Amino acid sequence: VPAPDAPELSTPLDVLRHVYGYHAFQGEQHGVIEHVLGGGDALVLMPTGGGKSLCYQIPSIMRQGTGIVISPLIALMQDQVSALTQMGVRAACLNSSLSPARQREVEAALHGGALDLLYVAPERLMTPQFLNRLDGLPIALFAIDEAHCVSQWGHDFRPEYTQLSVLHERFPKVPRIALTATADGPTRRDIVDHLQLGGASVFSTGFDRPNISYAIVQKDRGIDQLLAFIRQRHAGEAGIVYRISRKKVEETAEALQAAGIPALPYHAGMTAILRSHNQERFMREEGVVMVATVAFGMGVDKPNVRFVAHLEPPRSLEAYHQETGRAGRDGLPAEAFMTYGLADVVILRKMIGSPEENPRSFIEHQKLNAMLGFLETVECRRKALLGYFGEPLATSCGNCDTCITPPQTWDGTVAAQKALSCVYRTGQRFGVAHLTDILLGKLTKRVADHGHNEFKTFGCGKELAKESWKSVFRQLVALGLLDVDMEGHGSLLLNEESWQVLRGDRTVQLRRESLAAPAAHGRVTP
Ligand code: ADP
Ligand code: ZN
Repeated sequence: VPAPDAPELSTPLDVLRHVYGYHAFQGEQHGVIEHVLGGGDALVLMPTGGGKSLCYQIPSIMRQGTGIVISPLIALMQDQVSALTQMGVRAACLNSSLSPARQREVEAALHGGALDLLYVAPERLMTPQFLNRLDGLPIALFAIDEAHCVSQWGHDFRPEYTQLSVLHERFPKVPRIALTATADGPTRRDIVDHLQLGGASVFSTGFDRPNISYAIVQKDRGIDQLLAFIRQRHAGEAGIVYRISRKKVEETAEALQAAGIPALPYHAGMTAILRSHNQERFMREEGVVMVATVAFGMGVDKPNVRFVAHLEPPRSLEAYHQETGRAGRDGLPAEAFMTYGLADVVILRKMIGSPEENPRSFIEHQKLNAMLGFLETVECRRKALLGYFGEPLATSCGNCDTCITPPQTWDGTVAAQKALSCVYRTGQRFGVAHLTDILLGKLTKRVADHGHNEFKTFGCGKELAKESWKSVFRQLVALGLLDVDMEGHGSLLLNEESWQVLRGDRTVQLRRESLAAPAAHGRVTP
């Protein structure tokens, strides 16, 4: 790289063009770079593939001294360094995988001012020797990559990260830039608190995928709904179908194949050879539908995936955003379609488990709650999704189911009271199917065995159909007005908020379910 003050590299755009060979900045890249060049701290939230690296690389190249990049992933460090060196940027990394001789070489280069960028693992950076070494050197900036590692809320907590606040105390004049793709509120707050980034500008961008339309329907018979969706809207096109378990993956792939759709399964229970064979075919052939668990997708970059379907909701909005984001990479219209029912929520709750089984369960249940709120929203889906990622959308998108067919709402307060008192009177030990039978006054064997036909609530809900009661229960759970017992077999429990409804202290607006087939949501071409 020519000296930074050489005329052709005097602006970020010059560097972008002459070093990277790109024409223009994307999203907020330019804003972030100018801010950091000016000495400001930044918190950058961008999805994977959003172009975070340039945000710290260009200021490191342009500012005096070396940019120190803290990254937890040694394998990725190596890749980044090779790519940079190939472009002529003076970059190196320091981690435990290097020989002592190579480490000395890198340290010598650092001291000689011969590095634009140095990637280090956090545990290396935090050693007293290394910090002392940095004391006398010009430092362009500190970049904290994968900054969510500082948070217990993130999916990848690293205790070493919590000590990185030392950087601010020890090098108060050096700008810091924290970057992550995980952007929920609690994680963001943790990053700001633990890294002392209270004064940092927040840049949250690039989460919107305008060419993807979103639709979520009540699950009826999931596979049939999927078949109709594919036949009516995506015949012959490539897509990904996510399912919750290996068994369901197999079952769905077989059903699609039986219907003449070239579908392939993918899950962690298959041999590595078969998995990579199926992935190859999905990438190479036209119109293949991959039916998969979450094991599928990392690094899959097929441009013309026309749809991503979920037959069960993912566990978090981050997962939903990432998985649906595999559709429409070519920028052409693509669809994200989901079916869900309360049974799925029960299964997901069980998979997450109780605090005894899973120390992260509290966090994971909260993330699932955010997902449920999204499923039942009456707002524009895109608005709700981007709001979660801190990227507010001013107007409704016109390209999601709630925009195209605004859901009608109704005052469900009385229905909610009936449902909740039915839960209470039966001892909070039963699931939706049984509770619905009681509300409808159906004298099943189980109802008779428990004497539930003697209860006041027996038959008190005949004004609604079975499907409507299922929807009422599902929405009460999604709205946090009813809990699912994690130990029991999906039995429903009252919580503090349920009592507010039962006491008449709050009203409940519910979504009127349109049982429309997915095809009823007309596709809008942007
Ligand atoms: P992230 O770290 O956010 O996942 P990267 O920084 O690795 O994303 O960038 C993803 C890809 O986009 C890389 O191949 C990168 O070279 C490319 N890229 C980044 N910025 C631009 C740009 N302004 N123009 C074109 N391509 C870009
Ligand atoms: Zn919308």
